[in-house]
Amino acid sequence: MTDTQQTTQPTTRPATQQSEAERALLAKVPTGLLVDGTWSQAADGATFPVVDPATGETLLEIADATPEDGVRALDAADAARSAWATTPPRQRAEVLRRAFDLLQERREDFALLMTLEMGKPLAEARGEVTYGGEFLRWFSEEAVRIGGSYGTNPEGSGRAIVTHKPVGPAYLITPWNFPLAMATRKIAPALAAGCTVVVKPAELTPLTTLLFADLLLEAGVPAGVVNVVPTTHAGPLSEPLIADPRLRKLSFTGSTPVGRTLLAQAAQNVLRTSMELGGNAPFLVFADADLDLAVEGALAAKFRNTGQACTAANRFLVHEDVAEEFARRVTARVEAMSVGRGTEDGVAIGPLIDDRAVAKAHRLVTDAVERGAVVRTGGHPVEGPGTFYAPTVLTDVQPGSDLLRDEIFGPVLAIRSFRTEGEAIAAANDTEYGLVGYAFTEDPARGQRLMERLETGMLGLNTGVVSNASAPFGGVKQSGLGREGGGEGIAEYLETMYTLTPDPFRSTEGAAR
Ligand code: ADP
Repeated sequence: MTDTQQTTQPTTRPATQQSEAERALLAKVPTGLLVDGTWSQAADGATFPVVDPATGETLLEIADATPEDGVRALDAADAARSAWATTPPRQRAEVLRRAFDLLQERREDFALLMTLEMGKPLAEARGEVTYGGEFLRWFSEEAVRIGGSYGTNPEGSGRAIVTHKPVGPAYLITPWNFPLAMATRKIAPALAAGCTVVVKPAELTPLTTLLFADLLLEAGVPAGVVNVVPTTHAGPLSEPLIADPRLRKLSFTGSTPVGRTLLAQAAQNVLRTSMELGGNAPFLVFADADLDLAVEGALAAKFRNTGQACTAANRFLVHEDVAEEFARRVTARVEAMSVGRGTEDGVAIGPLIDDRAVAKAHRLVTDAVERGAVVRTGGHPVEGPGTFYAPTVLTDVQPGSDLLRDEIFGPVLAIRSFRTEGEAIAAANDTEYGLVGYAFTEDPARGQRLMERLETGMLGLNTGVVSNASAPFGGVKQSGLGREGGGEGIAEYLETMYTLTPDPFRSTEGAAR
């Protein structure tokens, strides 16, 4: 049987038109570079198109920053550095809080813009406005709690005063899959800590960052504190910035190969780095799991953002006693998912970001099927305008299949079964990645064993969603370095210094005076 004979997902979709409301929103988006509080063209006047992945149509042409523009942005961040670092924390906090409030007022604009440039269903884009906004609120609260300590050394001969200072100008590189949240997750802690920034949004989805930067200016962010340089020359623009001794911090979210390159570049100046890289999340369902909960968790962990998340469940490992029942239930739910432009009512699955993403998903599915996997639904691209892939469920995925090793980054739920807990944990850990895992079990002791034995930075225990602004998001192994969110998030933008003084009571003469 061929893939298409197996599927119940449609293989074509109709074209859709841009609405009046969409055109009105696009007219509000700045199309220049933001350097030192001013919107400007690229040094060479070049522009590039930003495309709606659901239609293939150009949404806007925006300025394409040159390496020279990147340096100008760093000049501005460096010039603003000391004034922002010494701005009272309460003032920095209030700017962030105003940004949070403005974002709430404009939530529909930001949600629609993300759906247009990235493709996610509108309901999910609204969820991202909430999630992304929470970083502004959380770090507005953290800005005024940057503490220190004062203590006596063990010998009693001195005092150590520990303080925290902003690390300095930071370069923030964001990916396309969460255009707002990845920007706020970096900008908010940087600003809260007192750092100025140069932001390079992904070239596929820069519009949300541009609109957000405009909002930040309105919220009172001073000129030069946030600079934004969208570019199609990511490498040539980034390299001189990373090599510039004025830059003190690099924060990157993206693929592991690009992360490795950036880490090597950052080594030259021994830059502080935070790296949120790829994932290959295992999703474990034990025989004692609440299957209803596991199915809900699976759909959230796999199909949110059409599978385009580093936290997306990549490998479903299900106990053999419940594997068929689990597969049957998720397949029924996936067959009912509606595929379309994210602006359409009831759409659960939007487009993938581009042709490459569709080709990759299909290559991984084809490889798995050739090795013996069974297509329960989907398993093919969707013809028509835009770059869509049918939501897919595969069972009987065989060891050695490429999709067990590579991040799928698409709506493909791949199931393998296991017999014992030990086997499941070994399979879960059999990857160079270690971002997140998910596990469903009603046995609390098993839950604790998983916490202790899974090699990941995060674990969703009986839940398919782990992200929260108050929690330290991040991975182990080749999934990255550092944490974003939580108390840890602001520490990434702070240096620790201690001052040692002698015991002030060492001379009784002084005390007597
Ligand atoms: P993806 O494969 O998901 O697009 P990438 O790692 O390629 O992930 O992209 C994430 C971000 O990294 C984007 O903003 C992209 O422009 C940027 N990027 C890609 N290559 C480089 C590079 N050589 N130097 C700096 N940034 C880069």
